[in-house]
Amino acid sequence: DGSIAQRAIRTTCPYCGVGCGVVATPDGRGGAAIAGDATHPANAGRLCSKGTALGETLSLDERLLHPEVNGKRASWDAALDAVAEGFRRGLAQHGPDGVALYVSGQLLTEDYYAANRFAKGVLGTANIDSNSRLCMASAVAAHIRAFGEDVVPGVYDDLELADTIVLVGSNLAWCHPVLFQRIQAAKARRPTMQVIVVDPRRTATCEGAALHLPLRPGSDVALFASLLVHLADHDHAHAAYLGAHTEGAAEALAAARSIAPRAAEFTGLDPAAIARFCAAWARSPRTVTLWSQGVNQSSAGTDKANAIINCHLLTGRIGTPGAGPFSVTGQPNAMGGRETGALATMLAGHLRFDVPAEHAALAAFWRAPALPTAPGLKATQLFAALAEQRIGALWVMATNPAVSLPNGDGVRAALARAPFLVVSETTRRSDTAGYAHVRLPALAWGEKDGTVTNSERVISRQRGFLPWPGDARPDWWAVAQVAARLGTAFGWKGPAAIFREHAAVTGLARPSRRAFDISGLAQLSDAQYDALAPTRWPVPPHGTATRRFFAAGGTLAPRACLVPTPFRAPVEDVCSAFPLRLLTGRLRDQWHSMTRTGTVPRLMAHAPEPVLTLHPQDAAGLPDGGLVEARSARGSAVFRLALDEGQRRGTAFAPMHWTAQFAPAARVNALVAPHADPVSFQPELKNAAIRVAPF
Ligand code: SF4
Repeated sequence: DGSIAQRAIRTTCPYCGVGCGVVATPDGRGGAAIAGDATHPANAGRLCSKGTALGETLSLDERLLHPEVNGKRASWDAALDAVAEGFRRGLAQHGPDGVALYVSGQLLTEDYYAANRFAKGVLGTANIDSNSRLCMASAVAAHIRAFGEDVVPGVYDDLELADTIVLVGSNLAWCHPVLFQRIQAAKARRPTMQVIVVDPRRTATCEGAALHLPLRPGSDVALFASLLVHLADHDHAHAAYLGAHTEGAAEALAAARSIAPRAAEFTGLDPAAIARFCAAWARSPRTVTLWSQGVNQSSAGTDKANAIINCHLLTGRIGTPGAGPFSVTGQPNAMGGRETGALATMLAGHLRFDVPAEHAALAAFWRAPALPTAPGLKATQLFAALAEQRIGALWVMATNPAVSLPNGDGVRAALARAPFLVVSETTRRSDTAGYAHVRLPALAWGEKDGTVTNSERVISRQRGFLPWPGDARPDWWAVAQVAARLGTAFGWKGPAAIFREHAAVTGLARPSRRAFDISGLAQLSDAQYDALAPTRWPVPPHGTATRRFFAAGGTLAPRACLVPTPFRAPVEDVCSAFPLRLLTGRLRDQWHSMTRTGTVPRLMAHAPEPVLTLHPQDAAGLPDGGLVEARSARGSAVFRLALDEGQRRGTAFAPMHWTAQFAPAARVNALVAPHADPVSFQPELKNAAIRVAPF
């Protein structure tokens, strides 16, 4: 309701998918003291550099505080009328397939749910996709192929209980720092525990690792094919588990056997290092294989994730303390978006387009006879359609696609030509907001109120403790207002009502075999919702909640699937014109397009300017510290050069954060092609063929 809290408030960090609990104590002058929440299961009081600095990000400078229509300040009524009219026009000219929403893992679950119900239930379009497509889609697709549903089997405690932790395509030390701290602390207590890092780069995560495998970018499938064959040939396959609970082992193994003999060639790794990796994994029943964007952001991302899961299924190392495949989410509420179905490939509550009873149940529950029956456009497809003028109206919420999508210059051109673009934002620092016909001022962290779900399925409250500034309002409220103008009243009085509805959706069409069930929370009172402690799903209405999935050996589908994973190299290869392979990723102290963290001097001090890293032997005389231009077939960007022997030969690395607001010439995604995984449609953001020259 926008009132000011007078006491310490438990809330949740708005950055990464670790989902740390935060205690914010407002100072009454618009600021707050920040501390880690010792009672939260994710962090037990720890915070990383970004979380610790949250109190320094609460300034109203550069905030978007009032609605704007065509660049002029407007009332909410006028702006909402304009949005409704724009979507009416888009529907009239292009039909439901010609309107779209592009939303974000920064949204709260309640905002996500509202946006999805508006798109699919009111507009009748499946064209709602999330920036989680850039983050988690390959893990989602792999979970569905393996388990029948998008389920992370394990919990963070498994990282402390494991004897071997394999970190694949993850600079955990910078990107999920509190999880890394938990591992380091566990290792200090139990020095026999070992960490293995699989990453083309030597990163901060390699510190203290027993083994670092600097494999060729994109070759993870070949490494895990080798492992699968090793496990089978050295008597580590769990015959009873395989027989009772799985299918596809023979086919997956046959595919792996066709790859494994060439694993050293594909990965560029020393065969002895591959053998050491396989032996270490094999002798440790308590192994967690954790992966992140180095696996997911790939044209073979789904196969990479399934190649990892295959090894756990073959050995039955899943669902038991200290063992399992573990995908960690990038964003604070990537998991929430998957739960609410705010992706073009899902309905809501993990209900599926292709299960008629589930589709019918949701259509009836929403009273939405025009509920779409097939998936809509995924992120890169959506912006390609926008460029081709096939989208008449687009609403972007809490994300900055002008910076984050591949083919950045093409996306900017598409946004500039959009017939009707609405952007809901907290800040004027968003490059995307600059293109909008209508700008809607959203509440920021500390003001808004709702829930998020972290990587281990724990739902936590994000609570407001600051007054609502200017005319800023919750995103769910703006969505509901436009829905009402288009003839559908949602009737929500606040986020608690939306959460109850979302929870009720997860109980529809039972007894389908679905893991995601929080219908036990559908009757929460407003007060119970307000006081909700961190709660792991599932929360069924009756019976016992499951802590780890598949602990009894079974999975959700009648049988878990080992999936054959053929080896495919990244789509864009290097050539004489563009001889280096560019990898992209995060910095320790920045978040996404820096609209929040970029305002904090002590966070900026960690990496004050855009840097491109090369191995010294690839520098060809370019001086360490000089300015260089990186150029691909699509665009160019300018960086300070850093030479580092930890960079794999033939590759370059640049962070993905820099926007036109902070470094106009260093937008890294202008270099990257929009190639995507054929199953998950996740773009291959960690691969572009470039050349580097003096600037
Ligand atoms: Fe926030 Fe992630 Fe840091 Fe925790 S680890 S404080 S969730 S950024």
